[in-house]
Amino acid sequence: MEQGELFASNEKNDRPNKLGQSSIYYKQAGSILNPTTGFMASYDYTLNPYSGCAFGCSYCYAAFFARDNESKENWGYWVNVKENALEILKKFRKKPLINKTIYISSVTDPYQPIERKLELTRSILRELLNYHTPRIVIQTRSPLITRDIDLFMKFEHIQVNMTITTDSERVRKIFEPYCPSNKDRLSAIKEIHDAGINACITMTPLLPIESPIEFVHSLKATGITKFIVQPFHQDRGKFTAGTREEALKLFNEFNWTTDRYQEVEDIIKQYIPDIGIGKEGFKPI
Ligand code: SF4
Repeated sequence: MEQGELFASNEKNDRPNKLGQSSIYYKQAGSILNPTTGFMASYDYTLNPYSGCAFGCSYCYAAFFARDNESKENWGYWVNVKENALEILKKFRKKPLINKTIYISSVTDPYQPIERKLELTRSILRELLNYHTPRIVIQTRSPLITRDIDLFMKFEHIQVNMTITTDSERVRKIFEPYCPSNKDRLSAIKEIHDAGINACITMTPLLPIESPIEFVHSLKATGITKFIVQPFHQDRGKFTAGTREEALKLFNEFNWTTDRYQEVEDIIKQYIPDIGIGKEGFKPI
């Protein structure tokens, strides 16, 4: 079903208003393709089908762009669906996006749980595929992305980035309690790669690692050859008091200092010498 059809029909009443820990709101957006600045400046546009993110990572920098303090504080507990996203995008049919570089998404996860029901990201991709020839990079932490392999295979220029931040489920549960497991993410990105789609693993940010060599072997076992790594900045995180305490305990336990991070990055680099570092690694395809 087209996302436009879903939202235009009587089925509006069927739209979930709550999913997991998150409240879901349906909003009219002013724009859907946003010209880039800062970290994303090497792209023409960022595209965010949602604002807010049910994955609610405790370090998420996107939380700082939330409208007010309450939204910042409740990051992970609300998601706004841009219900007119497809409608806005259809206006670009008159001026197709030829070779424009688009990053999906910069301040939300396009495959967070509500996407399974609404298929908003899927509708947007279908529109881009049928009426434009963009160069797309999709960033996610969600295995749901494998649902859209059929579409990805039809794009001429596309790359799927999967974020994998640690080899430890204990670390993952402290920092990203609502995100899918590392194992599921690894197996999803392998499936994307095996389908012949450009795939990349982004360790952004790299959190404490239990066994660096085994970790890097598990990444390479996917067959993927493109990787990006970036340090975790403790001072920039959006921690609640409880998370901060747990996180600090873990940092001490894993001796996760700047030196230890560098040591682990150096080990990773021994196995992946051409790994992309930080912003440079995120260049468009
Ligand atoms: S998945 Fe991305 S956008 Fe969502 S909370 Fe985590 S870091 Fe933020």
